[in-house]
Amino acid sequence: MKKTHPSLASGSDLRCFVPYFQPQFNYETGKLIGAEVLARHVKPDGSIEGPSAFIPAFEQSGFIYEMDKHIWNEACRHLSGWVKEGYPIRCISVNVSRVDLYHDDMADYLKGVLERYGLERSNLHLEITETAFSDNPQQLVQILEILRSEGFTIEMDDFGSGYSSLCWLKDLPVEILKMDSGFLSSTDRSHRGGRIITSIIQMAHAIDLQVIAEGVETKSQADFLKSVGCLKLQGYYFAQPMDADSFGVLLKNESEKPDLSSEEEREVPNVIDFFDIDSQSTLVFNSYVGGAAILSRGSNGKVSAIRINDKFFEIIGVDREKYSKRQYDIVSGMTEASATAFIEALDSAARRGEEASCVTFSKDIDGSGREFWCSCRVRFLARKRECQLFYLSIEDITEKTRLMENNRQLLSAIEEREDIFMHAAEQVNMFFWKYDIAAKTIYPCFRCQMILGLPGKLNNYPESAIEMCIFPEGDRYREVMRKVDSGQDIDEIMLLTSEKLPFRVRYTVEKDKDGKPTVAYATAIPVVS
Ligand code: C2E
Ligand code: CA
Ligand code: CA
Repeated sequence: MKKTHPSLASGSDLRCFVPYFQPQFNYETGKLIGAEVLARHVKPDGSIEGPSAFIPAFEQSGFIYEMDKHIWNEACRHLSGWVKEGYPIRCISVNVSRVDLYHDDMADYLKGVLERYGLERSNLHLEITETAFSDNPQQLVQILEILRSEGFTIEMDDFGSGYSSLCWLKDLPVEILKMDSGFLSSTDRSHRGGRIITSIIQMAHAIDLQVIAEGVETKSQADFLKSVGCLKLQGYYFAQPMDADSFGVLLKNESEKPDLSSEEEREVPNVIDFFDIDSQSTLVFNSYVGGAAILSRGSNGKVSAIRINDKFFEIIGVDREKYSKRQYDIVSGMTEASATAFIEALDSAARRGEEASCVTFSKDIDGSGREFWCSCRVRFLARKRECQLFYLSIEDITEKTRLMENNRQLLSAIEEREDIFMHAAEQVNMFFWKYDIAAKTIYPCFRCQMILGLPGKLNNYPESAIEMCIFPEGDRYREVMRKVDSGQDIDEIMLLTSEKLPFRVRYTVEKDKDGKPTVAYATAIPVVS
């Protein structure tokens, strides 16, 4: 025998079933974004009974359709009153039993209710539980298609609680996932619940679905959900389900709150088709010669790579599997300075709608401690719901950077050595120069230039120097230079400068493999008597 609910058995009518409302909030802006309608039974003694006491029996008997129609009607009646009051509520979500879906007149009934209360299709969301899809998914898809084409928004309730395949989602005319955050419990030692939720949210965003988390009971759950990009929350932490009068008061209070943000979701029209497997952009992306990724930055600031081409992995030298941990927080492996530079580049690209670039440095990208310098170019693609999308192309500049660093070190080593040499020359009061025998040119040292006023290069040597009175004993010096030209080393005391000061002048001649003199290195040190 079918179970009959006592209230019906006793002949009382549907009026003892009333809608309760549980508000939903955007946790970032604090604004109310909607409410879920939940049926309650008001018993003759005035006490309130929850749905677990009557829904299973009603579903079995088929009476659920009558009750649901009554609840939908009542909920819309209240909603129209609140809309007329100018209260800030745009939509309510009603529960639809699997049984209801097999009634052909359901869509017409809903349209009639909306019309009766002067409401739009967009004012009503339909929650259909995930497990409804277990018996005849094909038929269900058809029914949902009809509802969708009529303009209703479908929410998939209890997402994640059943075992329905994710594959289904792409074929379902569903726009919103309602995810139970129950498995974010503190007893979840493995943190698996958190990871599951994070991947549901990422997946949902990737396929353009909104997510509402329900059953949020604590601040830490709400904070966690926000941190992974889920901002629409419902649960005891915010408010219990309440009757229409209490909800009206809550709405009135909401309407008196100052409007601090223009939270209205403004979406850039879908300018990209990177998520369409057959699209041109996808083909270009996959075969693009450089490393490239599509990045998504959520409202929590986390930057994840939602698509990555093969070349990207070749460049960073890590395979997809190893990178999967970092993929959903790609700045995590960068140094703090690089992470800042990278985020600045994203900001600048988003602000100007153009390209921006930066260089990043990561250590230990593959667990081997390897250092990796990367030149990154980012282009802003679009804003989608709570996230921004970017195109990233990368180039490995580790080798280039290392070479540059080596050059810099070499240069500074040379400078250092010159410095030592300069000081030594200073101490012994030495002058030196290089003499190119064939060219008859000398290259005087820094001290020659500073103290004697010689240029960096002096042609027509020694005549030019004799003319400058550096060698007052001109003829004797010409003789010395002839010896040098013929390949002889020199070590003589000579008078130099117009003041005729005695210097010990030495030349060391170098010869090529045939014995021909090529260059000579000369020094002059004052003779102290
Ligand atoms: P549901 O659609 O998943 O609704 C959410 C349930 O979670 C509600 O239970 C709600 O009161 C409860 N809830 C809200 N916040 C929290 C929280 O922070 N922690 C926990 N643990 N629970 C929370 P309720 O009202 O007892 O409804 C139970 C179920 O009955 C609903 O689950 C829905 O499947 C069904 N139901 C409720 N109203 C209707 C209705 O009008 N028609 C139909 N067909 N089904 C309904
Ligand atoms: Ca629900
Ligand atoms: Ca639910």
